[in-house]
This record gives sequence, C-alpha cells and structure tokens, in this order.
Amino acid sequence: MHSDIQDVLISTEDIQAKCRELGAQLTDEYEGKFPLAVGVLKGALPFMSDLLRNIHTHLEMDFMDISSYGNEMRSSGEVKIEKDLDTKVEGRDILIVEDIIDSGLTLSYLMDLFKYRKANSIKLVTLLDKPEGRTVDIKADMAGFEVPNEFVVGYGLDYQERYRNLSYIGILKPEVYGGNDES
Ligand code: 5GP
Ligand code: MG
Ligand code: MG
Repeated sequence: MHSDIQDVLISTEDIQAKCRELGAQLTDEYEGKFPLAVGVLKGALPFMSDLLRNIHTHLEMDFMDISSYGNEMRSSGEVKIEKDLDTKVEGRDILIVEDIIDSGLTLSYLMDLFKYRKANSIKLVTLLDKPEGRTVDIKADMAGFEVPNEFVVGYGLDYQERYRNLSYIGILKPEVYGGNDES
C-alpha cells in the first residue's frame, strides 16, 4: 500500500472481478451491435482499459476531455470541452465510461450533448457511484461500487494529479491535504 493511503476501500482484486462482471453484462447488451465507448479523460482510463477487454463484441473507442470549473475536490458543473470526440455520434449506441459520479453535473452535461448529437442510445457505466453527492437527478445504468461521501483516490482518480496509477481505490491520510500551499 502507498504510504499516503490511510485505508483501501476497494481492492485490486474486487475491481478486476467487477470489470469481468460488468463486461459480461455489456457483452450481452451489445451483442450484434457496434457501440462507441466514450471514456472521459483522464480518470476513466484504467477502468475503460480493464472493462473494454471484458466486452466481447465489436466496439469502437474514443475519448473526451472535459474540464469543470470548481475546486480540487468538487466540480461546479460549468464544463468546457478540452478535447472532443473524433467520431460522429449520430445514430451510434454510446457507452459513456466514467470513473465516478458525484454531483452528476458532468454526466448530465454529456448525456444532453449526446442526445443533441442524435445518438441512437446512450448508456452510462461508472466504476464508482457516490449517491450522497448528487445535486442533479442522474443515475448510471451500471455502477460498480457505491462509495461514501468521502474523497477517494486511485485507479484513475487523482488528488493534484497524483495517485491515478494505484491499482485500488483508497482514502488519503489527512496530513496529505495539509501542508500544501498551492490552494
Ligand atoms: P461530478 O460532475 O459528478 O460532480 O464529478 C465528476 C468528477 O469529479 C469525476 O469524474 C472526478 O474527476 C471528480 N470527483 C468526484 N468525486 C471525486 C472523488 O471522490 N475523488 C476524486 N479524486 N475525484 C472526484
Ligand atoms: Mg471523470
Ligand atoms: Mg481530478
């Protein structure tokens, strides 16, 4: 375990097992189709990589980078597209792959965008769901794990761009937030 981590909330093994389980469900859902999996950078990258290798249909992948104005720990919902898709959305079956849904603001923006671009269907799969953080009414079609209303890191999720490369989800030691003069 990394020395900045206080507790492991979700182990490497549990994440991998969940990717197999969700992948099997999505294989059934998209049988005979050619979905477009959309990963939201950067946080969704590890999950996207492990999940898609467990989906056994043809699929296409693409990425979006979105920045939301807010502070380190929370998004404000005012979002800006930093990198758009290279792929046309019209008529496609879109699978949005996210790391975590907290307020739901980022996702609600994306759902509206893909509706506006005339997707044939839109599904949302998230590794983590933090239902207590919700400020807009949005629900994932599939969610790996529910997490409490605490700030988590690892497996794509960062604090100041660190910890994305951990293979598990954990909670930072309180002293890691202190002693930082950047904020
Ligand atoms: P939402 O728009 O649903 O509030 O937040 C979505 C984004 O906020 C996530 O994709 C993630 O980047 C960030 N976020 C929300 N909760 C957490 C958390 O507990 N830990 C980390 N590292 N990022 C979070
Ligand atoms: Mg995200
Ligand atoms: Mg972040």
